[in-house]
Amino acid sequence: MRRPARVRGWCPGAWRPMATGDGLLVRVRPDLGRLTRAQGLALCDAAEAWGSGLIELTRRANLQLRGVSEAGWPALMAELVEQALVSADAEAERTPARLLAPDWRDGDDTHRAGRLLHDACVDNLTAWPMLPDKWGLALDAGPAPVLGEAPADLRLERSRKGGLLVRADGRDLGTPVDDIEAAVTLMTRLARWFLESGGADAGRMHRITTPLPDWAAATTAPAASGSPLRLGAHPFGWVVGLPFGRVPASTLRAALADDQVTGIRVTPWRRLLLEGRRGNINDGQPADGLIQDEDDPRLAMDVCPGAPHCAQASVATLDLARALSERRGDHPAGRVHVSGCAKGCARGAPAEVCLVGRDGRYDLMLGGRADDTPVATGLDASDAIEYLETRDASRL
Ligand code: SF4
Repeated sequence: MRRPARVRGWCPGAWRPMATGDGLLVRVRPDLGRLTRAQGLALCDAAEAWGSGLIELTRRANLQLRGVSEAGWPALMAELVEQALVSADAEAERTPARLLAPDWRDGDDTHRAGRLLHDACVDNLTAWPMLPDKWGLALDAGPAPVLGEAPADLRLERSRKGGLLVRADGRDLGTPVDDIEAAVTLMTRLARWFLESGGADAGRMHRITTPLPDWAAATTAPAASGSPLRLGAHPFGWVVGLPFGRVPASTLRAALADDQVTGIRVTPWRRLLLEGRRGNINDGQPADGLIQDEDDPRLAMDVCPGAPHCAQASVATLDLARALSERRGDHPAGRVHVSGCAKGCARGAPAEVCLVGRDGRYDLMLGGRADDTPVATGLDASDAIEYLETRDASRL
């Protein structure tokens, strides 16, 4: 197998892993947002054999392994292809990411769209144009859209009256379509229109301000948003949270050990749905490393790996995030984002409190994103903790 084509940009895959501060980062995009139990167990083994032993869940519902060596990458890839976690065709991962609302059922509109787009994107690589790396589709055709905060460029949603629509990201209204086949055709046309409208330079659909073409007139509002999956019992199984989007492979393996579990569905909310699981993970299983309490303050935090895991980071993020979460119980402060640098990989939207590494210290933004203007700069970890305890930025 050839050497990895190392990527220094911001959307690595498995065939194009990213060189990070602790080795290669290898990202897996599970087809239909689901792994079988066997695939989940194989990923746990792979994380321990070739990676750091941790598995990360991204805000695009991808799974990634860190700490992979260049020498180990070919064997890891052979295993991932063998387990059908990665396509044998490297070009397949250049097709748009397809994020499915995780509670799809066999044969429903979200599932059918996922299958049709898989066929169009992966089995017929020429059917879709070559789009910017981060381009993605949200397939969200349940009664109420739930993926509105997840990154995507085109969204399949349902209108207030229950019809299907395709909505270009950044627009309030969508284009009604008669059925899933028409939705997939419209998505393909809009992807080509995006490129013709300067999309290669703009990168993302929401940055294109040109009015949509007449054949895609956006006239219809989507239904009101629904909520992310709640932790605990679900009609399909049991939902668990991953602290800061990470789980040790050994912990996930223990959660899958129960043979009533049939698979894993990934979500963009740092939560996994364990299909078939009935009952709390603590029932005879170790639960360290999984969140099962909806009030856990870590659920309100978005944290990137930071130093030393990411070469772009000048500060550690995870230790600070843990310290903040231990003190947050009495001082709720809304959403907290801790980022190793201004890229803000863990969260694109504003957060009530945002701490961003710069030159070995932290900048503080209030109600902003990682690349916004700080209200305080040059903080150390204890300053940041003090702020969250007092909510008084003037003391910094
Ligand atoms: S935001 Fe975090 S993960 Fe992203 S590049 Fe910066 S330090 Fe790395």
